[in-house]
Amino acid sequence: MNLNDPVETLTGIGPKTAALLANMSVATVRDLLFHMPRDYQDRTRITRIADTHDGETVTIEAETVNARQIRLRGHMSMAVATLRDDSGEMQATWFGRGFLAQTFKPGTRALFTGTVGQYKGPCLKNPDYELLSGDEEDRLNTGRIVPIYRLTERVTQRMLRRWITLALDQVLDDLEETLPCESLATYGFPPIQEAMRIIHFPNALEDVRAARERFAYEELLGIQLGVQRSRAAHQHETKANIHIVDGPRLETLRASLDFALTQAQSRAIADILGDMASARPMARLIQGDVGCGKTIVALHAVAAAADGGFQTALMAPTEILAEQHYLTLRRMLDPLGLTVVQLTGSMCKPATIRKRIARGEAHVVVGTNALAQEKTTFQRLGLVIVDEQHRFGVCQRGALAAKGEYPDVLHTTATPIPRTLAMTVYGGMDITVIDELPPGRLPVKTRRIPTDKTADLYAYVVDQARLGFQTYIVCPLVDESEKRELVAVTTHFEQLSSGPLSGVRTALLHGRLDVVEKDDIMRRFKEGKIDALFSTTVIEVGVDVANATTMLIEDAGQFGVTQLHQLRGRVGRGATQSHCFLLGTPKTDDGLRRIEILCATTDGFEIAEQDLLLRGPGEFQGVRQAGLSDLRAADLIRDSRLLDAAQRDAQRILASDPELAAPELRYLAETASRFERINA
Ligand code: ADP
Ligand code: MG
Repeated sequence: MNLNDPVETLTGIGPKTAALLANMSVATVRDLLFHMPRDYQDRTRITRIADTHDGETVTIEAETVNARQIRLRGHMSMAVATLRDDSGEMQATWFGRGFLAQTFKPGTRALFTGTVGQYKGPCLKNPDYELLSGDEEDRLNTGRIVPIYRLTERVTQRMLRRWITLALDQVLDDLEETLPCESLATYGFPPIQEAMRIIHFPNALEDVRAARERFAYEELLGIQLGVQRSRAAHQHETKANIHIVDGPRLETLRASLDFALTQAQSRAIADILGDMASARPMARLIQGDVGCGKTIVALHAVAAAADGGFQTALMAPTEILAEQHYLTLRRMLDPLGLTVVQLTGSMCKPATIRKRIARGEAHVVVGTNALAQEKTTFQRLGLVIVDEQHRFGVCQRGALAAKGEYPDVLHTTATPIPRTLAMTVYGGMDITVIDELPPGRLPVKTRRIPTDKTADLYAYVVDQARLGFQTYIVCPLVDESEKRELVAVTTHFEQLSSGPLSGVRTALLHGRLDVVEKDDIMRRFKEGKIDALFSTTVIEVGVDVANATTMLIEDAGQFGVTQLHQLRGRVGRGATQSHCFLLGTPKTDDGLRRIEILCATTDGFEIAEQDLLLRGPGEFQGVRQAGLSDLRAADLIRDSRLLDAAQRDAQRILASDPELAAPELRYLAETASRFERINA
């Protein structure tokens, strides 16, 4: 048998089971070995029934005396079993799982792990169980520390333990070392064969850590080698435009600012101009919380590009945002003598505009993904700016950049990405963080409003309108749907406009309106002709109306943390104290937790870290595309120390062996090549 043989080579695995295992990305014997436990259960200690105490978590080995199903109210049922060992009897109950009465026929032997409570005497509440067959195999599953695996339908812990034991016995000797000796020595990691045995069947739980870290480090090092190598390749092979960074337009722009840049903004501009002045193409991500002033930073890059006669394309994720950027850029760039045009999917004369872009008559083009379409060509595209970068796929970004000859590319995002994720997902880019807001900004005050206090809140909105301040009212849905309990923006708009908010000027904005209508509403809101704007999340990114100081978010528990933070960023953009009110009663603990996080902090990075803890890395933008959601051992949250080490080591390895040609790097080079494509 060979490591790369299909799992069906193992005794007991037929085509049907193999298909089930494939659901867990287990196709070969090697995959099976790399299907690592998610947890362990210490079964070296079996407690006698007579020795169990209330509140303790114990494992008992017992035989079923009898089991019955008890019907409860509604369609609910529970199973109650009487268990017996040499020392005595106790009950086990499974609430809501009456069908288990069938499983525990009298005489069934099993291990039960659970917490001791009371049900007509001592009882194990909803215990985990594992049926014992009385044969040889029970030794694998009892009296030791047993691995707990991620399962798939019709595959049990026992089966996995059996197959993995078979695999370990038959092919472990063939498993070659994947890490260089030096790494093993530096970190004191066990060699791969030993680590593999420990990770599945440890003799002591203390041994697991070094074994797991070994595999985690290996994955992280492979990823780092991949992203760093692709970046190096990108920078060496291509020859970018060398931009003029002390030209007249940049000077004029600097002189025309009516505020002082923050230090963080100045640093970001210096980073960008440094990239543009060099011969390697810029691939930089500017990360900065909502309202930190990324637009003006990006404008410096535009002015520099224009000084050298290069065109700039700025791509925004929505038409509303594109329009807003277009207006800002015209205001700022007209005085520099630059022609700014707009190109979106819904424009009436796109062909005319495209002609002006192709001829080079337009210096700056602002638009949506229409910019990336094949029809759009540039005369001399030297700078690409992708606003709210995470909203676009790698392909769209790439397609736009391909319209120039190695243009410099600047990405911006207001979604703060936890450091560990940025190092992997965006490992191919340089990152600048703008960690400072313009002076005088007051952090938005955020409060949760119970349902019975909403009348006061709407009165507050009316008061604010009288004072000349505007309000956003954000709802999760456009129309009433089957999910009746959610507040739909249309009904809500109608009810409030003819009810508590009848005295103020209201309007409704959502994604299903046509673009002309949307633009019109946004323009009127900006001009202060609307007091309260009912909206869906279409206003989530970038919209900038300093006079809007209040935000109500209906059914706030329905939104993700990051999304709530983005929404909240629409207020607090002027010098007046702004407020954000989170409404509704969340139906889940997570929903409540999200609201608590928002109330506790306005720091986008802290929010992102909390979000990572709450949702796990798989939910983050870009993580899945990058293939990072199926890491086998590494945990992007817990393993930040290992990640730092991997990053350093990758740099060192690439410095001496850029091709990863050394034989001991063979396996790492394979992982690395999978991750080279992340770079965009
Ligand atoms: P974001 O980073 O969310 O894209 P914007 O670029 O839209 O933020 O900037 C938000 C607002 O802050 C704009 O009205 C902008 O003119 C203003 N602004 C940017 N930088 C400064 C600064 N250094 N001082 C004062 N106001 C600033
Ligand atoms: Mg912005």
